[in-house]
Amino acid sequence: MQVKYIDQIPLKGKKVVARFDFNVPLSKDGKNTITDASRIDLSLPTIQYMLEQGVTSLVLMSHLGRPDGKVNKKYSLEPVAAYLAEKLNQDVILAEGAVDTGIKPYLKTQKAKIILLENLRFSPGEEDNDPEFAKKLAEYADIYVNDAFGVSHRKHASVHAITHYFKNHTYGGFLIKREVEALNKVLNSPKKPMIAIIGGAKVSDKIKTIQKLLVTVDHMLIGGAMAYPFLKATGVEVGKSLCSDEDVQLAKTLLAQDRGNKIQLPVDHVASEALDGSAKVIESKNIPEKYIGLDIGPQTIKNYGTLIMKSATILWNGPMGYFENPKFAEGTMSMAKSISNSKAFSVVGGGDSVSAVQKSGLADKFSHVSTGGGASLEYIEKGDLPGIQALRQGVDLT
Ligand code: AMP
Repeated sequence: MQVKYIDQIPLKGKKVVARFDFNVPLSKDGKNTITDASRIDLSLPTIQYMLEQGVTSLVLMSHLGRPDGKVNKKYSLEPVAAYLAEKLNQDVILAEGAVDTGIKPYLKTQKAKIILLENLRFSPGEEDNDPEFAKKLAEYADIYVNDAFGVSHRKHASVHAITHYFKNHTYGGFLIKREVEALNKVLNSPKKPMIAIIGGAKVSDKIKTIQKLLVTVDHMLIGGAMAYPFLKATGVEVGKSLCSDEDVQLAKTLLAQDRGNKIQLPVDHVASEALDGSAKVIESKNIPEKYIGLDIGPQTIKNYGTLIMKSATILWNGPMGYFENPKFAEGTMSMAKSISNSKAFSVVGGGDSVSAVQKSGLADKFSHVSTGGGASLEYIEKGDLPGIQALRQGVDLT
């Protein structure tokens, strides 16, 4: 069974409850100003479409931060309600809680169509996937929409258990549709040659994703702190670089599985004696004892750039170095530049690589920039997510 999307059904006169990912960063000055509204902006096409189609009422749901099942005003969705009201040019009422006895009568009598439920994670039922909590959310509407790709890897009440109460009336929004189509294209029918660029901190976080991709890709370019356990596993000295014994063992397993010699490792580095120290190019694979490897070196950038230019499909997850410090950002930024110059179908996923791409100003040159870090990794690994499976076939809570 396929996911049905909101443009495949008549919405006129329908009461809708819809899950979005409005988990936006807020300023820490006590004013709770939204510092980056991209996640809300990406949800607007789905909301606007539903309104244009003539839904009777729209109950919007989201979490924000990690309030751990307790009410905490610091994580209130109040600024989100204000932002939405401004963008949609109509009232958006913020309900006091996700479960609020005033909501149902209000939906029947008032003209205001849009209600935003207060942070779902103020209630422990959300993260516990509690059927009773989900049932109460479901009572607000006759159809359910999920457009929160970034949380669809979680079995939480508003993405999972809730679908039980809608039977065949569960639909995907436009953002989920874009995410699934882009990732499916890369995973199921990639144009060859295909490369994966994998960076970030730990092999253990991404081992299953790497194993899955090794089957499909022609080359896998490894960078970031992730590279050092691989190098160490091949007998190279890595100095004081981030490199746990567990990751070295995992890297050994992956190298043994890589019969096609697809894994490419850095041949040089940018290193330093401290995270805030000065940068030094190390023109060999081996890193001297007192140095920490913090970025891929110029020759590696060249080698990887050549492979990028020859590829037809590119999947990128994880930065090539400690890119938060500009002295060690060249590797990551160069990958973004090379990909943006290539004609390949390119998908970038994962929180840190996405923020690097946004920093580079080249995001619009990528075919798809995924909104979900953990969600996109899990989708690559399993080809599905609990929240998306639930949209297709519901969940049986008996
Ligand atoms: P991940 O969440 O696994 O994609 O890891 C991203 C984090 O890894 C970012 O904060 C990077 O700064 C960090 N990182 C990448 N390469 C290195 C490195 N060589 N040394 C230390 N941290 C790194």
